[in-house]
Amino acid sequence: MHYRPLGSTGLKVSVLSYGASPLGNAFRTIDDNEGIRTVRTALDLGINFLDTSPHYGATKSETVLGRALQGVPRDSYILATKVGQYGEGNFDFSAARVTQSFEESCARLGTDYIDVLHCHDIEFADLNQILNETLPALVKLRDAGRVGHLGITGLPLKIFPAVIERTAPGTIGAVLSFCRYCLNDTALESLIPAFQAKGIGIINASATGMGLLTERGAPGWHPAPESIKTGCRRAVEYCQSVGADITKLALQFAVQHPAIATTLVGTASPENIRKNVAYIAEPIDAELLAKVLDVLQPILNHNFTRGRPENRDPIIA
Ligand code: NAD
Repeated sequence: MHYRPLGSTGLKVSVLSYGASPLGNAFRTIDDNEGIRTVRTALDLGINFLDTSPHYGATKSETVLGRALQGVPRDSYILATKVGQYGEGNFDFSAARVTQSFEESCARLGTDYIDVLHCHDIEFADLNQILNETLPALVKLRDAGRVGHLGITGLPLKIFPAVIERTAPGTIGAVLSFCRYCLNDTALESLIPAFQAKGIGIINASATGMGLLTERGAPGWHPAPESIKTGCRRAVEYCQSVGADITKLALQFAVQHPAIATTLVGTASPENIRKNVAYIAEPIDAELLAKVLDVLQPILNHNFTRGRPENRDPIIA
């Protein structure tokens, strides 16, 4: 496993990291013990960065992750969770709720310290509230030594500069972007120089586009329009036709970007995590990559967006 610095946070994170949303049944109903074995396998294989949220499975992901981490030395892994989102359409970024939420997450995760605490999916929030109320509440937790670094997450790219440019340097230590640096969409690259200039660590998620680039395909709730689903399906089918695994290529592609500190992958299967770690240890097949990028070219950087109207990216279709 290789490790990269997470911006200027002082943390060194494994290039492949563990996203715990599947522990909350995001993709299928899981067997908790299998989920716990997956986390332990990830740690054994050198993955040191774990991401969860009270939103995943209405706290189930944090609870199962907390069980998986029982007895594991706290300084052997870097833990990220989130505040502000609590079930479908249920957002509360008030100072009181995010402070209480942090304490509840700590209790479920069996710790009193969170390395990276994110505001979860701020495209659904009033960004003035994030700037004037949420972040100041989280800064208090950081000043009290309960949180290492603060982050923001979301799907539209425009939310990142909209917040970062209005906060004091050092407030935001990391960003978590998803579906915007993968085989079919590399638009995150446009923000990388600005993040680097401010020492902000870049966490990439959903290298498979939340399942678009997997043989199982996107789950029913996936927000992509049919054109993107069909375009990605073509790439999956191309890989199948030449005996290649699209998930492998998707992960290799994401982790090879030197400016992206880590790529989260979600799974509740020990077998998948073993495969994923093995995949990224292999050199990428440049010929296959070129072919697949060619298949994806008609939908490259076509996107889907969500959130409050003022926080949405323009749609490219
Ligand atoms: P992902 O792209 O990692 O896709 C997960 C899907 O890929 C699952 O269906 C999983 O079973 C499948 N998969 C994983 N390994 C596989 C393999 N070897 N072979 C076949 N299929 C495989 O998407 P994700 O889970 O949404 O993202 C990863 C993590 O990133 C999440 O768990 C979460 O922690 C984080 N995330 C955060 C946000 C946010 O903060 N807003 C958004 C998206 C993701």
